[in-house]
Formats: sequence, C-alpha cells, structure tokens
Amino acid sequence: MISVDEARALLFDLVAPVSSEQVPLTEAAGRVLATEIAATRNQPPFAASSMDGYAVNAAEVELHAMFKVIGEAAAGHRFDGPLRAGQAVRIFTGAPMPQGADFVVIQEDVDRRGDLITIARAPGSKSNVRPAGVDFTTGTTISAPRLLRPEDIALIAAMNHAQVPVARKPRIALISTGNELVMPGDQPGPDQIIASNTFGLKALLDRAGAETRILPIARDTLSSLETAFGLAQGADIVVTIGGASVGDHDLVSDVAQRLGVEQSFYKVRMRPGKPLMAGRLGSSAMVGLPGNPVSAMVCGYLFLLPMVRRMLGLDVALPAFQSAPLAAPIGPNGPREHYMRAEFGADGIRVCDDQDSSLLSVLAQANALVVRPPGDPSRAAGEQVQFLPI
Ligand code: AMP
Ligand code: MG
Repeated sequence: MISVDEARALLFDLVAPVSSEQVPLTEAAGRVLATEIAATRNQPPFAASSMDGYAVNAAEVELHAMFKVIGEAAAGHRFDGPLRAGQAVRIFTGAPMPQGADFVVIQEDVDRRGDLITIARAPGSKSNVRPAGVDFTTGTTISAPRLLRPEDIALIAAMNHAQVPVARKPRIALISTGNELVMPGDQPGPDQIIASNTFGLKALLDRAGAETRILPIARDTLSSLETAFGLAQGADIVVTIGGASVGDHDLVSDVAQRLGVEQSFYKVRMRPGKPLMAGRLGSSAMVGLPGNPVSAMVCGYLFLLPMVRRMLGLDVALPAFQSAPLAAPIGPNGPREHYMRAEFGADGIRVCDDQDSSLLSVLAQANALVVRPPGDPSRAAGEQVQFLPI
C-alpha cells in the first residue's frame, strides 16, 4: 500500500493544466487568472481631490489667508483654466485638480462669504490630493496564476478590462454506484438510502473552480456501470463512488479494466479511504473513491481538490495544513495515516468521539481534519497537532 503523499503524486501525473478562456468580468470571481493582466491606464488618470473643499496653491495656505472662488470642479467635470495668486476653486472628491492648485483646504476649515473664503482653522500639512497614477499606472500588472477574489475583480475593472483570461474549469463527472441508492427527493424503498456523496463532492469541487456533473446512479451491474462510464466521456476526471472494495457487488475495478484503464494504484495507507483506486482511462483521469460518505469527502479534500488546483495551474495545490494544540488527549494511532474529524475553537482542537466513516452528521459538525501519522503515540492535551481546516 502507498502513502497519501505517494498517491497524490501519482494522481498529479494523471492530470495536466487546462487551457484558458476569456470570460466577462462579472463571471471571473473564483476563477484562476490564466495570463498576466496589465493596466491600460493610470489611476487616477489625473491628480484628484480626496476631499470636498477648496483647491488652492499650497504656498498660499496659512491661517486667515483669503481667496476668491473663481469656479467649481466636480467629479467628472474639471475646472478649465489656471489658478492665479489669491484664487481658489470649489472642489469635490474625485474631481481633477485645477492647473496651478496642489492643495485642498477642506470645507470645514473655511469660512465663506459670497465668493470669498477665509481659512478659519489651521488646515494642517496634508494636501488632500491624490497624485495621478498613485493607485496604478499603465502597465502595472496582476500576475498569473491567481485565484481571483472580489478585490481582484474590482482592480481588473479599474484597469479597464471587461474580459478576463482564466483557466477553463476542470470537468469532473461523478458516478454513484449501488443498488441501494436513490437521488435526494426520490422515494427510497425499504432497503434503500439516499445518494449523498455526489452532492457533497460536487459542492466541494465546484467551490474550488471545477464544473462537476452528477451522472445517473449506476447499479451494481457491469452494464449499468459501463453506461455510466459512457456518459462520463469528455470529463477530465471521472470519479466513481463506492463499489471499490472486493465484495461480490464491487464491480468498479472490473468495469474500469474492461474499458482499458491503466491503473496507477489501488489502496492507500490511510483512514478513512483505504480502498482508493486511480488510473488513466483514455484522455481522462479515473478515480475510484470508497463509498462510505466520510471516506468519499475526505478523499475529496485530500486528492480531488489538489488535482483540481493543479489543473487550474495554481502554485499551491497541496492541502494547507495548520497546527493547533489539542483541547483533550487522544489515544495512539494505528498503522495508517488517520484523518480525524475535529472541532477547532478558542481552546484548541478537539477530536470528535465517534470516527465511524459513515457518520455524515459528525463530519458536518467538524470544521477540521486532524492528521495522525502512522504509529503516532497517545497525545496529551496541549500537544500540537496538524490539521486541515474544512
Ligand atoms: P461500497 O463501497 O459500495 O461498499 O459502499 C460503502 C458504503 O457507502 C455503503 O454503506 C454504501 O451504501 C455507502 N455509499 C456508497 N455510495 C454512496 C453514495 N453515493 N452516497 C451515500 N452513501 C453511499
Ligand atoms: Mg456499493
């Protein structure tokens, strides 16, 4: 059996960075910038007032100085013409500074009578002027790859781009397998349960920037599984869930083999999620996840998300572990790397009592997976452990 790290490395070999596409700015949030983007203008394009007040020549600013107001500059509408000695222009936030003015006395510091103003309160040394290009200048770049956050979208808009080059969404097809499964909202028979894994995984993968399709549930027959694989064509990653062990009804590996999968591994030294398999199936990567709901989600975090990030071209594809002190002691770990559902809070991290891999309620309650190395001894409260926030 291979380790989690070895499995992930082999999975990375099954995927390649995706191509790029142009999307409208309104659809670019959460996508990965594929190529560097450069500002096509200076921002602000002119020296601009940052306050409402009076634009004057800084050399003339002193308490009790008087100026004649000769016009007005508002955002979107400059005052044409130069400012001479003793003159001021009424100015508002965002307006271009008039020629000859380099200081804005804020309106609160001024007494005005008709078109005459007096500086009535000491205005301080801050000019209240934003120099041209202080935010960015033509050619300032945003480097790629970069996961675009709302802040980046605002910056790209200000740089005057309506379209953004982003990595195409990795296409993932999810196949639930099992005679016992029905779709949420359907009427289950007495021996049936609801297929939940595909829905959790779709939410996880789509949030990471993938385009995930949930295919019809495959029954535990060769033909039903083959049909499902057929429907998955065109996907970058075909993910099956369940049917990956060696029981009589576990046919995923048989079918994958019949379809010509080049297997890269089967079984990983981990808990939960041991019966994981992967290989290359035509132009797709194929990943066979265990069916237990917690195993499937944990494998989603540890393997599928990194694959998606790698395809998107993100530098940091590996799970970002953190460390925290244990809030309560834990017993020794067995021979497999163990990913334990846990709750991270102000008093440290507390491992959940019941780690049965079928318990979705415990997973939903958890906000972290504590990782235990193989053979890790008992740990006392206060000892630091590694965890993955979820
Ligand atoms: P299997 O690997 O097919 O033996 O499945 C292991 C366990 O996970 C069984 O209890 C299945 O009923 C359950 N299971 C398999 N697939 C799903 C699914 N898509 N959603 C929820 N439970 C599942
Ligand atoms: Mg099954």
